[in-house]
Amino acid sequence: MELEVYIDGKWYPKSEAKISVFDHGLLYGDGVFEGIRAYNCLVFKLREHLDRLYESAHTIMLKISFDHKKMTEVIVQTLKRNHLRDAYIRAVVTRGTGDLGLDPQKCKKPTIIVITDKIVLYPDRLYKHGLEIITVPTVRNHPEAVNPALKSLNYLNNILAKIEATHSGYVEALLLNHQGYVAECTGDNIFMVKNDTLMTPPTYAGVLRGITRAAILDLARHKKIEVEEKILTRHDLFNANEVFLTGTAAEVIPVVKIDGRTIGNGEPGKITQSLMKAFHDLTKKDGVRYSL
Ligand code: PMP
Repeated sequence: MELEVYIDGKWYPKSEAKISVFDHGLLYGDGVFEGIRAYNCLVFKLREHLDRLYESAHTIMLKISFDHKKMTEVIVQTLKRNHLRDAYIRAVVTRGTGDLGLDPQKCKKPTIIVITDKIVLYPDRLYKHGLEIITVPTVRNHPEAVNPALKSLNYLNNILAKIEATHSGYVEALLLNHQGYVAECTGDNIFMVKNDTLMTPPTYAGVLRGITRAAILDLARHKKIEVEEKILTRHDLFNANEVFLTGTAAEVIPVVKIDGRTIGNGEPGKITQSLMKAFHDLTKKDGVRYSL
């Protein structure tokens, strides 16, 4: 059976799920989105994802007609219609259909889309042995231009970085901020461990406030691991004992080499592994349950 996609009040088979070419989401990347996971009929951290979606919408002065409750219902119903126990969920709210000019006021009604599908993860061996990443020349968006905290449909900054990484033969890119400090990867936040202290760039370094990032900070504090949100350089990362990335799709994935420098002993570290396990356990508990 073909997957069904929700658009503005109705569900359509995937091949018929279409929006107008005049939608400003397409014409200008004018809109916001969330990537969410369902694990065994539990929508993980749904409240946190919806909070971030509504905050992003508020910043771009986009009024979502649905409240949290209605959005939750639509997401759960879309999962049920597609019989998905484990899924990747994409909630998208665009400015809606307008004319060819920029003016968002010409767009009368936001387009609300919910896509649910099976999740494609990095291969198992990368979770076991770790990723190799590369710093790319593209700098993360300046917070006073398009703040990386805003999860907008404008992902060209990240896509350019991704192109630079894959062009050089790497799957993931490290972006620095406009001051040359570590920001994040194209779709993941970054962490390092040095002398048993867990560190990650503060949000003011210009990063997305990752839901997985927040979960890892909580789990680490719970485990009495020392945690610091601090400005980091590439030098700090090169000389870390452990490095890992966090994100909804990737979850927690170890990094063992950056720009050719081996991190620690070149294998996923103990703290990384214990946080990977703790995160996995959390995905069984923290969210909104549904039944098929
Ligand atoms: N940074 C960027 C740029 C992202 O797009 C994402 C989400 N894919 C993340 C970090 C991780 O955020 P989250 O843990 O909320 O998925």
